[in-house]
Amino acid sequence: MRTVFNELNVSNSIAIMGGTFDPIHYGHLVTAEAVRHKYNINQVIFMPTGHPPHKNNKEVSHSEHRYLMSVLATAANPYFNVSRMEIDRKGTTYTIDTIKGLKEVYGEKTELYFITGADALHYIFTWKDAEELLRLCTFVAVTRPGYNKEKLVKEIEIIKKNYESKIHFLEVPALSISSTDIRNRVREGRPIKYLVPESVENYIYKFKLYI
Ligand code: NAP
Repeated sequence: MRTVFNELNVSNSIAIMGGTFDPIHYGHLVTAEAVRHKYNINQVIFMPTGHPPHKNNKEVSHSEHRYLMSVLATAANPYFNVSRMEIDRKGTTYTIDTIKGLKEVYGEKTELYFITGADALHYIFTWKDAEELLRLCTFVAVTRPGYNKEKLVKEIEIIKKNYESKIHFLEVPALSISSTDIRNRVREGRPIKYLVPESVENYIYKFKLYI
């Protein structure tokens, strides 16, 4: 497929949807579809995190559960795929390694977008090789309604000026759904129907997650 895109000189762009996805919910799916449409992206790869440097993995469900729920949730969308790259990679997970790995697979000419929660952008310079990362991919920082974006917008402007990086900002109303709220609802016996795909809801109950 890569060769076909390159030979026809058709835009070949991939968005990586990076997150813990514990669990994946409709907010994530709507976000990925909105970004795909807005930037004319060929494929969105959901990338459940492996062992992030800033998190104690005990707080997070097993990566296999998070991966399988992501597969169930994205199965019906022909533009969506899920990667095991981060969950299978040994050691601490750094986004720079993921982006370099994807450049190798898809070729230098493929434009890579990295979609993630806007909060992550506040800490971007604590990430491994942040400057190189900002050069290698376009960031799409997404926020939920009510997010105080003033500070972030200023930070983004400074980063863009100093590093000639491409950073977009997108507010997604559907992101009023949150994984934290879903986990709390399950723990308290409240419904999660219509917040996650039915297949994900069934999976959560079958494996007794979040109780
Ligand atoms: P997180 O704990 O899953 O999420 C933090 C916040 O952002 C949550 O409110 C979350 O909402 C939201 N969010 C996360 N991913 C999202 C997405 N793709 N679309 C919409 N909302 C999203 O994530 P994180 O630990 O901050 O990490 C985010 C990404 O940055 C991961 O891919 C991670 O590997 C990468 N990262 C890399 C480094 C590094 O390379 N050093 C350091 C930090 C983070 P929900 O809870 O509802 O999902």
